[in-house]
Amino acid sequence: MNRKNILVTGGAGYIGSHTLVELYNSGYKPIVVDNLSNSSLNNITGAEQIIKSKIDFYKVDCTDFEQMNKVFKEKKNIDAVIHFAAFKSVEESVRHPDKYFSNNIRSLETLIDLMNSHNVNNIIFSSSCTVYGTPEFLPVNELAPFGKAESPYGETKQLCEKLIEKSTINSISLRYFNPVGSHPTSLIGDCSADKPNNLVPIICEVASGKRESMQIFGNDYNTIDGTCVRDYIHVVDLAKAHVMAVNHILNNTKIKTAYNLGVGKGVSVQEVIDSFQKVNNLKISYELGPRRSGDVEKIYSDNTKINDELGWFPVMSFESGLESAWNWEKLKN
Ligand code: UDP
Repeated sequence: MNRKNILVTGGAGYIGSHTLVELYNSGYKPIVVDNLSNSSLNNITGAEQIIKSKIDFYKVDCTDFEQMNKVFKEKKNIDAVIHFAAFKSVEESVRHPDKYFSNNIRSLETLIDLMNSHNVNNIIFSSSCTVYGTPEFLPVNELAPFGKAESPYGETKQLCEKLIEKSTINSISLRYFNPVGSHPTSLIGDCSADKPNNLVPIICEVASGKRESMQIFGNDYNTIDGTCVRDYIHVVDLAKAHVMAVNHILNNTKIKTAYNLGVGKGVSVQEVIDSFQKVNNLKISYELGPRRSGDVEKIYSDNTKINDELGWFPVMSFESGLESAWNWEKLKN
C-alpha cells in the first residue's frame, strides 16, 4: 500500500496518539516528532500495539529549526502536517505567559518556514474553542469573532490561527471543545506530566483515591443547575475528524478554513459528575466551591459546518467517554 506521509507534531500526546491510530487505519503513514516534554513514549508503543505496525518517531523539539529541518530532509515527501505540539495548561499559562508565547508561537513559525522551504503545503492546526472567549450567541459557530482571550494559552491559539491565515499554506484549524475519554483498548491516553486541571481527569483522580475530594467551581451561574456548561467530545471522534480534515485538504487546493469540533450538546459540571458516578458505579466526593476565575458560563458548539463540509459526525457516546476515562486512570496507576 502506498501510504501518504503525515507529519504529526506532538504525536506522543493525548489527542496526537489517538490520531496516529486513526491515520494509520485510514491508510496514511504517520511520522511523529515530539520532544516528550509533556507526553510519553508509551503512547507511541501503545499506538504501535493497536495498529500492529512500527511508527517512525523523532525525539525533536519543534522550535529546533536544525533538527526539524533534518526530519523534513530525511522524510522528503511529507504530504501534510498535523500540528499538535504545544503547551496546553491554561493555569500555567497565566503564571508563565512568556513560556507560552515563546514556545507555542515559535514552534508554529519554525514549522511554517520549513514547510515553505520543503514545499509542504498542507497543515491541520490543533486549535481550541477558547479562541471565541465568551461567545455572544450559543451554540457558537465559526462566524463568531475571536473574543477577548481568557488566558495567555487562549491568546496563543488565536495568534497561531492568525499566523496560519497569513501564510500561503492550505490550512484547517480544528477548534476543539472539551475532549474526554480514551481509546477503548486503554493502550493510549493522557500521559501529561502536568497536574490535571480539567474536570474529567480530576474526577478520575478522586475516584482512584489520588485526591480526597474535589470542588465544583461555582453553582450560581445562569444554567440548568447553576454549574458551568461545556461540550464534551470523545477523543476518538476528535481523532477521526483529523483524518477527515487530512482527506479534505489533500483532495482540494486553496483551503483556509476552521471547524468547530464538539458534539453540539451542553452538559453541566454537575451532570458530568452524576453521569460519571452512574456509568462507573462509584461515588465521588465533592463539594460546592467558589467560581474559578476565567471560566466562561456556558459554551457549546454548532458543528453544522464540519457535518456539511467533511461529513464528520460524533458517534461515541458521552457515557463511553466517561467509562474509558476511568479505565485509563485505573491502568495508568
Ligand atoms: N471544573 C470544576 N472543578 C474542577 C475542574 C473543573 O468544577 O475541579 C469545571 C470548570 O470550572 C469548568 C468545567 O469544569 O466549568 C470544565 O473545566 P475544564 O478545566 O475541564 O475545561 P475548560 O472548559 O475550562 O477548558
